[in-house]
Amino acid sequence: MLKQTDLAQDTETLAELKQVVHKLSRLLEISVTLNSTLDPERLLQFILDTATDVLDCSAASILLYDEKQGKLHFTAATGTDPKKLAEIPVPLDGSIAGTVFRENRPLVINDVESDPRHFGLVGQQIQFRPRSLVAVPMRIREKTTGVLEALNKRSGPFTQKDAQFLYVIASQAAVSINNSRLLQALQRTYDELNQLDKMKSNFMAIASHELRTPLGLILGYASFLQEKAHGELSEHASMVLNSALRLQTLVEDMTNMNLLKIGSTELMLAEIPIQIPVQSAHDRTKSTADAKNQRLTIQMPQTPLYINADVEKLELVFFNLLNNSVRYTPAQGEIRIQVDHKPGEVWVVVEDNGFGIPKDELANIFNEFYQVEDHMTRRYGGLGLGLAIARGLVELHGGRIWAESDGPGQGSRFTTVLPLLDGSS
Ligand code: ADP
Repeated sequence: MLKQTDLAQDTETLAELKQVVHKLSRLLEISVTLNSTLDPERLLQFILDTATDVLDCSAASILLYDEKQGKLHFTAATGTDPKKLAEIPVPLDGSIAGTVFRENRPLVINDVESDPRHFGLVGQQIQFRPRSLVAVPMRIREKTTGVLEALNKRSGPFTQKDAQFLYVIASQAAVSINNSRLLQALQRTYDELNQLDKMKSNFMAIASHELRTPLGLILGYASFLQEKAHGELSEHASMVLNSALRLQTLVEDMTNMNLLKIGSTELMLAEIPIQIPVQSAHDRTKSTADAKNQRLTIQMPQTPLYINADVEKLELVFFNLLNNSVRYTPAQGEIRIQVDHKPGEVWVVVEDNGFGIPKDELANIFNEFYQVEDHMTRRYGGLGLGLAIARGLVELHGGRIWAESDGPGQGSRFTTVLPLLDGSS
């Protein structure tokens, strides 16, 4: 038969075991929650709630080290006024938290007010009397970053076991706080980049708008003068006209890029044979290729291959590709544009035997403003928008575009693929 004392002992052990199980399950919970919470405020609150619950105490706080000030700062706290606490920096010398931080070891103190290291100012400012305390360092990769404190145990004194439990919480918390900080920094950088991108788009919109009116005037007068004037004056007018036309292309590029970026490009779709924009782009490039003594050839099937497209926009795509080939191929070089019928698709290949492109740059050249040549040494002009515009327009037509090259000096090949209209395949 069981004696009364055995029964009492068993009940006590059972109660203790229950408590340990509760604490362990909270610790398990904390690792799951900490790994899935990225909102810093909720994260800190959860750490503190778990600490007060597991250690059965009335308050808890997290102090993080501020490297600039060389002091600890209350980053979160329960049971008191967290805003007021945040305003009181805690020195590394002359405070219990500071001692834990400096010596990098836990402290259990059950008579806080008579401890010489106690930093009384905090209690006075927020009218909170700390009786007992356990504090542990928070560490990330060998570096102490702060201190986690639990205060005023509800029943009895804090023990070393409490310090062990708090240490487990602090270790997990430190990693989560670090992750959350990294994420915040990443978010800030992302926001800044977005802001810069917006400013760039605004600048492009304003610049292209402001340039258009004076450019129209220059073009008008220059062509008038070129027609009416004679001799040297007419030659000068031609020079002005050509420069103004180049400027106009740049302004148009900026406008087109901006419209694509803000998703405002409007396509005037119609059922057209792909041969039409390809031929116009070829014809538009012919004179510049001739001026460099380059051989520009075109190969297309006789049968019209119908696509649903904006003819002007596609002409711009092929013009940009051909114009690049002319610019990036030396005199006497060869440039070819070829249309091929594939199942359900049409492939348009623009190929040259020019300067070629390093393999690791092939994907980058479709990014806006990207140029392989360094801006300081570049010889070929342009804004680095032609291919970005081409890609944007091709994708708006449900197609794809890519570049191939065997490297510098080996020529380049640009392939544009567009879906054929049903029935054309
Ligand atoms: P831009 O020609 O105005 O610089 P693009 O967007 O049309 O801008 O082209 C981006 C970059 O891709 C060019 O600066 C050039 O370095 C490279 N590139 C484009 N087409 C060719 C080509 N046919 N041969 C060699 N390099 C090319």
